Amino acid sequence: MTRQKSTHELVKDIQQAGGCSHPIRLRGEFVNQATGEVNERPLLVACKDRRAVLCPSCSYLYKADAWIVVSTGLIGGKGVPTSISAHPRLFLTLTAPSFGPVHARRADGSCQPGRLRYCGHGRSLVCSRRHDDADPAIGSPLCDVCYHYGDAVLWNAESSRLWNRTFEQIRRRLAIALGVSYEELAQQVRLNYLKVAEFQRRGLAHFHVVLRADGPGAPFSPPPPDLTAQRLAGIIESVVKDFSITGPRGTVSWGQQFHLADASTLSRDDLRIAAYLAKYATKSADGSMDFAQRFRSRSEILNINAPAHLRQLALTAWDLAQDPSLVHLNTRGHAHAFGFRGQLITKSRHYSTRFQDLRAARAAHMKAPHSDDPVAGSFSYDGQGYDDPRAATIAEFLHQLTLEARRDAKGDGANAQGSPS
Ligand SMILES: [Zn+2]
Ligand SMILES: [Zn+2]
Ligand SMILES: [Zn+2]
Repeated sequence: MTRQKSTHELVKDIQQAGGCSHPIRLRGEFVNQATGEVNERPLLVACKDRRAVLCPSCSYLYKADAWIVVSTGLIGGKGVPTSISAHPRLFLTLTAPSFGPVHARRADGSCQPGRLRYCGHGRSLVCSRRHDDADPAIGSPLCDVCYHYGDAVLWNAESSRLWNRTFEQIRRRLAIALGVSYEELAQQVRLNYLKVAEFQRRGLAHFHVVLRADGPGAPFSPPPPDLTAQRLAGIIESVVKDFSITGPRGTVSWGQQFHLADASTLSRDDLRIAAYLAKYATKSADGSMDFAQRFRSRSEILNINAPAHLRQLALTAWDLAQDPSLVHLNTRGHAHAFGFRGQLITKSRHYSTRFQDLRAARAAHMKAPHSDDPVAGSFSYDGQGYDDPRAATIAEFLHQLTLEARRDAKGDGANAQGSPS
């Protein structure tokens, strides 16, 4: 039986793990630079999980990084010239189509009003209620038998490919508009983007995209002056409206809800867009613990205490894997994300600064001079989480204290827009 660690030792462990709640435990060999002596000891490395329900501290750092990555692509900074804020920049939101009527809260507060009518299962397709925003019914279908669960899951599974192909089509139309071939487009203009996926209450992914036009030269160089944001917006709108790809069970296209805004007309709000996008990057599929991790079995899904609609989406994703024509979509491995298998944040290479550069800069800043350094390549995985469960609780408590101290230092309201910095 090992002796219990003191609070001082626990805090030292937490510091080594960068404040993480569930660090990766490694065993490594370290060599003393002065004496050449090699000894083995454990090393704690931050889990770097972006999801707030799994690790508040790592998620906070991720959100701060996401905020920098998004905002520097809009207004410059961290090596990106501020001149990019004069480039055409658009902010677009792309949604999934409808897979059956769901309870909703529209702008006027109504749900599904209209003359009484029923589906073939005898369920009313009208809802005259006014749902409270916190009502868990929002997003769930009026008839769960009518609802096209398979198509909804397949849309999530194909949505990243739909975006990639849409983006390619936007560049093709842009080439035509500029009177050049598709191959010559890169010598005229380059489109850079950052895309954040977020789950709607109905369990379908939708995308927020910041798109910027740059010139053909060095990264962040100015685009041709005749390419205005309005002209680009017109091209994007015409592509999104009727573009589709062929999926294993039919065509996959975008929903009717589509928003496009010229980011330069929102100049004072640019940073608010960044904070808004960064916020979504730290959520699990429904923001809860239930869908934060992969399921290991079908019964695990049946036993979660989640809204029936979300559970049904996860079950559908699990079961679709039995169809040999859908194996390549790995919906079972992504049942916790209702079939969605993309990254939550994706971006083109020259959108702005990179996550790994921000992490490297932080690591260099935090690294204390050590008398001993690890022997290269001598680490083995030892598990996840602190060996003493009290450490995770202390880590989360310390994280809350840090947040409060920062809020106090800034004065009330500084974080009102969710800006994590
Ligand atoms: Zn962590
Ligand atoms: Zn309703
Ligand atoms: Zn029905």
